[in-house]
Amino acid sequence: MNEEISADNPYSRLVALKKLGVVKNFDEIRKYSVAVVGLGGIGSVAAEMLVRCGIGKLILFDCDTVELANMNRLFYKPEQRGKTKVQAAKETLEAINPDVLIQGRHMDITVVSNYDNFVQVLQSGSLDGHSAVDLVCSCVDNYNARITINMVCNELRLTWFESGVSEDALSGHVQLIVPGVFACYSCVPPLLVASGIDESTLKRDGVCAASLPTTMGLIAGLLVQNTLKYLLQFGQVSNYIGYSAWTDYFSTMTVKPNDSCPDANCLHWQKVVQMEQQNKKEQTSQDAVETAHSDMETKLHEDNEWSIEVVDNGFDTNQSQEMSSSLQDTSTT
Ligand SMILES: [Zn+2]
Repeated sequence: MNEEISADNPYSRLVALKKLGVVKNFDEIRKYSVAVVGLGGIGSVAAEMLVRCGIGKLILFDCDTVELANMNRLFYKPEQRGKTKVQAAKETLEAINPDVLIQGRHMDITVVSNYDNFVQVLQSGSLDGHSAVDLVCSCVDNYNARITINMVCNELRLTWFESGVSEDALSGHVQLIVPGVFACYSCVPPLLVASGIDESTLKRDGVCAASLPTTMGLIAGLLVQNTLKYLLQFGQVSNYIGYSAWTDYFSTMTVKPNDSCPDANCLHWQKVVQMEQQNKKEQTSQDAVETAHSDMETKLHEDNEWSIEVVDNGFDTNQSQEMSSSLQDTSTT
């Protein structure tokens, strides 16, 4: 990332974050790869923000085409009508920042025969193609797509953000899901699913979901803000952020994983995380004992008024062990 502050450098205002000490390592954003699944009102705007921030690589997934009905929201232009959203987005994003490596996948991730391909793309999605993407941003609008992303991320132990806006366009949420650490999408299913109601039966004839560019833009902003905080490790990343436009109300909370989650991989990672946390706890207490011991030794020898020092007498400790065992041998014979 060019660190020169000049009118010709597109990263000038971002590098300023580093110079001001707000984000010490902003340039590291160039090494990260993020998958954006769903290029609707949230996903397309989130992708644009990531590209303008200089993300290293972006993998875009969507199966729709651009329609005039999308024009009430940001990003797409009327002349892109009829193009796949993946193609239209790739063209726009590459023009905005040619430094970003952008891959587009025009595919329906909910089709069973696409599952392995979806897994493979995420698994080899890093900047160099040798490991998985660093993060998945879910910007899809239906339960089947969310549960598919959940399954893949639990399988690959990928961290992902779930996001969405309500059907009346006036509330939304962003949720961080780290397998085994926080609740996955199956740990706490939406009330609708838990009640056994089929999502498709709720669609009323002639009535489609409403959407506002304002709510979509706000949720996309919260999603990318937390993506930056997560990748560059600054500030606090909330586990769940809810937003209601009715009262300008923002809520945050933490949702722990469910030990009865129906996803076997989620249960597996829960156990792994518990073990990792236990090991970390033991290591921390061991380190604390060692530090206390070394402090005590330093204190004990602080005033060495007799100038006592440890000198090498040329005696090999292996020799000492051999001697001690030979003495033991002698004593038993
Ligand atoms: Zn779960």
